[in-house]
Amino acid sequence: DALANHIAEIDHDQCDAGDEDSFFVCDLGEVLQSFRIWKEKLPQVHPHYAVKCNTNLEVIKLLAKLGVSFDCASKTEIDTIINLGIDSDRIVYANPCKTNSFIRHAKQTNVNLTTVDNVQELYKLQKHHPECGILIRIVTDDETAQCRLSTKFGCSLEVAITELLPLAKELGLNVKGVAFHVGSGAKDFDSIYKAIRDARALFDAAAEFGYSLDVLDIGGGFERETFDQSSKMVTLSLDKFFPEAFVKQHQVKFIAEPGRFMVANAFTLATHVIARRDIKDAEIRAMVYINDGVYGNMNCILFDHQHPQAHVLTHNNKFYYDSVQSCPYRFSIWGPTCDGLDCVSNQAKLSHDVQVGDWLYFPNLGAYTSAATTSFNGFKGNAHVIYVASEELP
Ligand code: PLP
Repeated sequence: DALANHIAEIDHDQCDAGDEDSFFVCDLGEVLQSFRIWKEKLPQVHPHYAVKCNTNLEVIKLLAKLGVSFDCASKTEIDTIINLGIDSDRIVYANPCKTNSFIRHAKQTNVNLTTVDNVQELYKLQKHHPECGILIRIVTDDETAQCRLSTKFGCSLEVAITELLPLAKELGLNVKGVAFHVGSGAKDFDSIYKAIRDARALFDAAAEFGYSLDVLDIGGGFERETFDQSSKMVTLSLDKFFPEAFVKQHQVKFIAEPGRFMVANAFTLATHVIARRDIKDAEIRAMVYINDGVYGNMNCILFDHQHPQAHVLTHNNKFYYDSVQSCPYRFSIWGPTCDGLDCVSNQAKLSHDVQVGDWLYFPNLGAYTSAATTSFNGFKGNAHVIYVASEELP
């Protein structure tokens, strides 16, 4: 397979510096599969892929081809989408706190839908992009999410009703709907129900100000593993709070901003064991040092609270991908920088007594990994990506 072929091509004893760098294998078939699952379970909700999650252009191009739209957080992300020839009306600028010059850039590039959660943002929009469609982002109950977002963004219903709506009206702004995010890696799906209930309350309150809202943006937070439950909760809540007659009367469109859901399963990271230090009389056998870590593609350990799972890919030049049953050997695994924080795992159980020169692989590293790498200590952040397709692509 692609992992083995790439490694087989490397002459580990003579290669140039960096030729044995870590690399990703991206299965675009998994992205297609995610899209299909979304369409099957939530056909009524149009996805805007959250570009921040993984900015890989092949992924974006495939999603664009499939008809997916995009959630951009900054000028650069907007430009990424527009430079691919994707129409700006497929973009929601879903960052509630924006730089003025970026708002002007949104206007210049015809990005006409954004989220807002405070009055200052309304004044800024009136000055720099007065026609822009506005989604009021409300706070959610995201205490149990892997990555909380409502600690930073989202206003209460009360603030929305007593401050934002009256001011928007006074400034003549174009309030179009409501947005929320239940937290990335959400675990409590009741929060979806509550947020959709609150969104409906805001639709009703807005009507009193003469606004006929027609967009509900249910944000991200979805995962393939729990999508049965989360999508059921979305459907149940939409049916209850946005019944068909209401949706028809107001021509309501449901959109979402899934990131992790689309890409997490599509990327596998392969790393080279560059050093090993044996530890005597300890629970672990040795400390192994690999050529990617917390400052590279496994920044998700710090920023996204992920726990990447190591597996043996090669041991003494033999491949073991997917053929391993038991994992009796314990190691701690460290990244390549000189920083003690750069620890990938305190106690990884592996199938073999890994040695310098072996390769490890980490599956499911597509979300919030390559998007936030650094070049700390001079290690190159961007890993090479090899593309495969387990399904026929459009
Ligand atoms: N939308 C917004 C505004 C976000 O901040 C995020 C993640 O931080 C997302 C969408 C994507 O979330 P997820 O990857 O959990 O689907």
